[in-house]
Amino acid sequence: MARVFNTGITHREKEALAYVESNDGIKRFFLDFEYSPLFQHDGTVSGIMISVYDVTEKVEARMKIEESERKFRLLADSMPQHIWTSDAEGNLNYFNKSVYSYSGFTPDELETKDWIHIVHPEDREENTERWKHSVQTGTPFLFEHRFRRHDGEDRWQLSRALPVRDDAGNIQMWVGTSTDIDEIKKHEQQKDDFIRMASHELKTPVTTIKGYIQLLLNKHSNGNDPLLTHSLSVIDKQIFKLTKLITDLLDVTKIETGSFELIKENFLINELAEEIIADIQATTDTHKLVFESKKDNIVYADKDRISQVLINLLTNAIKYSPFTNEVIIKTSLSGDEIIVSIHDFGIGIPFQDHEKIFERFYRVEGRDEKTFPGFGIGLFIVKEIITLHNGKVWVESEKNNGATFYFSLPAS
Ligand code: ADP
Repeated sequence: MARVFNTGITHREKEALAYVESNDGIKRFFLDFEYSPLFQHDGTVSGIMISVYDVTEKVEARMKIEESERKFRLLADSMPQHIWTSDAEGNLNYFNKSVYSYSGFTPDELETKDWIHIVHPEDREENTERWKHSVQTGTPFLFEHRFRRHDGEDRWQLSRALPVRDDAGNIQMWVGTSTDIDEIKKHEQQKDDFIRMASHELKTPVTTIKGYIQLLLNKHSNGNDPLLTHSLSVIDKQIFKLTKLITDLLDVTKIETGSFELIKENFLINELAEEIIADIQATTDTHKLVFESKKDNIVYADKDRISQVLINLLTNAIKYSPFTNEVIIKTSLSGDEIIVSIHDFGIGIPFQDHEKIFERFYRVEGRDEKTFPGFGIGLFIVKEIITLHNGKVWVESEKNNGATFYFSLPAS
C-alpha cells in the first residue's frame, strides 16, 4: 500500500489466498484485489481505493477440475495400453505416456507431426477413412492396425474409441485405447498356417480313399456279401463328411489369404436348386425337402459356389431340426434381386446370435446346440461366397421356433 502511495502505480493481485475467521471457524477465500491511487490535482496521491472480488467459487471449481485431470493423467499414464482423446471434430489432442514411450516421439514432435505417422504406412488410408466415418456418424471406432515402435518394429494393435456425449447427446470428445495384440495375432497366424497345412496334407489321402471306396462299391453293389456292401456304404458316407470338412477348411484359408475366386456363368437358379435338393434328399430319410417356386430366373454367378451355399444351408436345416420333418425352399424375384430362402422348423437361433453365426468358428452355445456336430465354418463360407457375388445373407429366427435363412443374388 505504501508503494502505491509513493509511486502512484496501481497494485493488483489475483487469487490471493486469505483466511478469514468467522462464527463457523476459519474459512479459506481466494480474492482478486486492487489498490488504485486517488490523485490530487497536483499529482500527489491523496488516498487509495481498494477493490476486492471474492473469486473463491471459481478457483475451487477450477482446482477440482485440475485435480480430476491430474488423477486421470496419473491413471492413464500408469496403464500399459495406449490412451488418447480427441475433440468432437476428431482432432487428437491427448496421448498418455505409453504412446510416447512406445513410439519414441516427444510431446512436441507429436504436436507438430501428424499422429498418423505412428501407424504403419499400409494401414494409414483405411485408418483415416474409418476414423472420419466414426467422427461423422458418431459410431464407435474399432480397427486393427500396426503401430511402429521406436526401434522400428511394427506391432499389431486393436484400437477402439467411443464418443463422450453431453446430456443433450452432443458429442463432446472421443476417448480411445489401443491394445497390443501382436502376440495374439502371431498365434492366430500359426493356427491358420497349421489348418492350411493340415487340410492340404489330408486332402490327397482322403481323395484316394474315396476313389477306392467308389470302386469297391461299384464292384460289390449287387454282390452277395451284405456286410461288405453295408460297410462300404457307411465308410462312403463318413468319407463324404470328411471331404466336406477338408474342403471347408481349405476354403477358410483361401478366404483368409484373399485367394477365393469366382468363375461366373449364366444359369437358372431353380434348376440348380432342384438338382441340389434332389442330391440332399437322397442322403436323408428323416426330412422332406419341399421346393416351392413358380418362375425360374437366370443368375450370373459361380454355379459350384452357389451349390455349396445351398448344400450348407440345407444340411444345416436338416441337422438343426431333429424333431421335425420338413424343410421348405423358395426362390423369388424381388426388384433386381433373386432371393432364395430355406425354412426349417427346428431349434431356432436366439436373436443375439443372428449376426455372430456368420463369423468364423462361431457356434451357438447351449444345451440343445451341444449335441450337434460341427465346426462353425459353414455359414462363414456362405457369407463370403454371397458377399463376393454382391449379395446379402441373413436369418430370421427365434429360439425353439425354426429358422429361415435368406440369400440374395443380383438377377442377370
Ligand atoms: P456348424 O453347423 O458346423 O456348427 P455353421 O457355420 O454352419 O457351423 O453354423 C454356425 C452355427 O449357427 C451352428 O453351430 C448353429 O449353432 C447355428 N445354426 C446354423 N444353422 C442353423 C439352423 N438352421 N437352425 C439353428 N441353428 C443354426
